[in-house]
Amino acid sequence: MAETEEKRKQKKNKRPKKKWFGYGNFYCPFCGARRNQGEEKICPKCGKNYSLKISLRGIPKQGGGIGFSPYANHKSVMRYRKQEKKAFWIWAPVISLIIASIILFELRDKIYDWQSFLGAALVPVGGPLVLIWLFWFWWYGMNYKKYKNWDGVVTRKEIKEYDETKRDGNGNKYQEYSTFYTLYFKDDRGKEHTLVERDMPQRFDFFEEGERVRYHGKYTNYYEKYDKSGLDRIPCQGCGAALDPRQNYCADCGCIVLKV
Ligand SMILES: [Zn+2]
Ligand SMILES: [Zn+2]
Repeated sequence: MAETEEKRKQKKNKRPKKKWFGYGNFYCPFCGARRNQGEEKICPKCGKNYSLKISLRGIPKQGGGIGFSPYANHKSVMRYRKQEKKAFWIWAPVISLIIASIILFELRDKIYDWQSFLGAALVPVGGPLVLIWLFWFWWYGMNYKKYKNWDGVVTRKEIKEYDETKRDGNGNKYQEYSTFYTLYFKDDRGKEHTLVERDMPQRFDFFEEGERVRYHGKYTNYYEKYDKSGLDRIPCQGCGAALDPRQNYCADCGCIVLKV
């Protein structure tokens, strides 16, 4: 009896649950191995407790070191990218269908005779629309986050308040206020880059004027600090979670921590 139970457990442990959507403690924060949800507390691969609180007890706090991390092209990052792409191909058709339904719903009053409308409009209008849509899918899937990497310096930080007069559903005017946080960079080839964040100054606050930065645009759209020595948290290059520099991998998305 006990043996079969043991065997069943082993079988179950062999196949990690597949992750399709979302995030949650799926990976060991120390060795990056896929973890079996809710089944054990100790990683079978590296022997450490998954809990940072327990495993980091007694280990003094440390920063992420000085210099750019050599782990930007690590296989864990490639795996993350692959999963992200997969999620895109699952969600994109769903979102397209929703958008198409909204358009049809908005047009409902203009369509009095469905049959003749469909017959008359589907071929000349629908055909090219489908082609454009498919092309957009293909293009977006191919180029998604495929920007060039560069090394550079933060040259300037700028905060701009912006207010816009808008109208609500009843036609009444109202003001919408937003704040734009802009980081200006100059890369080592002299080219300028900007990063604009609206109402969310996380990355803006993270960088100081004059500091050295590496942009990992090709894979993760991530800005890495050259000097990470004073950080007690390093943002995950995949999902953006705040990671302890003493851990090696993000427990949520499995990406390696970009430290030195
Ligand atoms: Zn482990
Ligand atoms: Zn992550």
